[in-house]
Amino acid sequence: MSEGGSRRVALVTGASRGIGAAIATRLLKDGFHVVGTATSEAGCAAIRERLGNGSSQAEIVRLEDADSVAALYEKLENTCGHPAVLVNNAGITADNLSMRMTDVQWNSVLDTNVNGLFRMTRPALRSMMKARFGRIINLSSVIARMGNPGQSNYAASKAAIEGYSRSLALELASRNITVNVVAPGLIATDMTSELTQVQQEQMLARIPMGRAGQADDVASAVSWLACDSSAYVTGATIPVNGGLFLG
Ligand code: NAP
Repeated sequence: MSEGGSRRVALVTGASRGIGAAIATRLLKDGFHVVGTATSEAGCAAIRERLGNGSSQAEIVRLEDADSVAALYEKLENTCGHPAVLVNNAGITADNLSMRMTDVQWNSVLDTNVNGLFRMTRPALRSMMKARFGRIINLSSVIARMGNPGQSNYAASKAAIEGYSRSLALELASRNITVNVVAPGLIATDMTSELTQVQQEQMLARIPMGRAGQADDVASAVSWLACDSSAYVTGATIPVNGGLFLG
C-alpha cells in the first residue's frame, strides 16, 4: 500500500463499510491518495481489502476521542501529509422516543456526529488555508430537515452539521476552500438495516422513486464535490434521496 506521493490526499472517516466504503473506493478511482478510517483494526483490515493495492492507507480514529484524532493527524503528517479533501462521513444513531431517551443516547450521538466532526475538521484547516485549496464534504441526512420520530438526537446532530457547514463555507470561501453537505435519504447499509421492517416499509412508501438508494449514489455526489469542476459550489446541501424530501 503506497502513501501520498504527488496525489491529493482525501481523508474519509468511517470508510470500513456502508457509504464511507463506497466513497473511499470512488475517490481512489478519481486519483486521490485515500486515507480511510475505522474504529478498530478489523475495520482497517476491511478498508485495506477493499482498496487493494491502490494509493491508500487505513487508520484508526474514534471521533469521540480527541487524543485519537490528534494521533491520526500526527500519523498523516509523518506519512502522506494533511488532506486536501476531507469527507466527514462517520456517524452513529442511538434511537429512542424523546420521552425515553437517556442522556447517554443523546450525548453519544451529539458528541460523535457534531463534536467529532468539528474535532476532525479544525486540524485540517491550517494546511488547506496555506495551500489555498480544500474540499470539505460533510454527511448529513434527509432527517435533518424532515425530522423522524425516535431520532430526535440524530436529527439535531445532522441539523447542527448543516448550520456548521454553511458558516464554515463563508469563513473559508476566499481561500478557495469549499464546504458542502451531502444529505442522503434511505440508503441500504448497516445503519438502515437496524430500522425495523415496519420503519423501512413506511420510509420506502414515501420515496417517489420507490426504492432505497445505494451507497454508490452518495459516493457520486461526493466525488463531484471533491473534484475541480465543482469549484464554484460552496455552502450547498445536496440531497441524494430519490425525491423523498424536496424542501
Ligand atoms: P454505517 O454503515 O453504520 O457505518 C458507519 C461508519 O462510521 C463505519 O465505518 C464505522 O466504523 C464508523 N464509525 C462509527 N462510529 C464511529 C466513531 N465513534 N468514530 C469514528 N468512526 C465511527 O453508516 P452509513 O449508513 O454508511 O452512514 C454513513 C454516513 O451517512 C453517516 O454520517 C450517516 O449518518 C449518513 N447517512 C446514512 C443514511 C443511510 O440511510 N444509511 C442516510 C442518511 C445519512 P467501524 O466499522 O469501525 O464501526
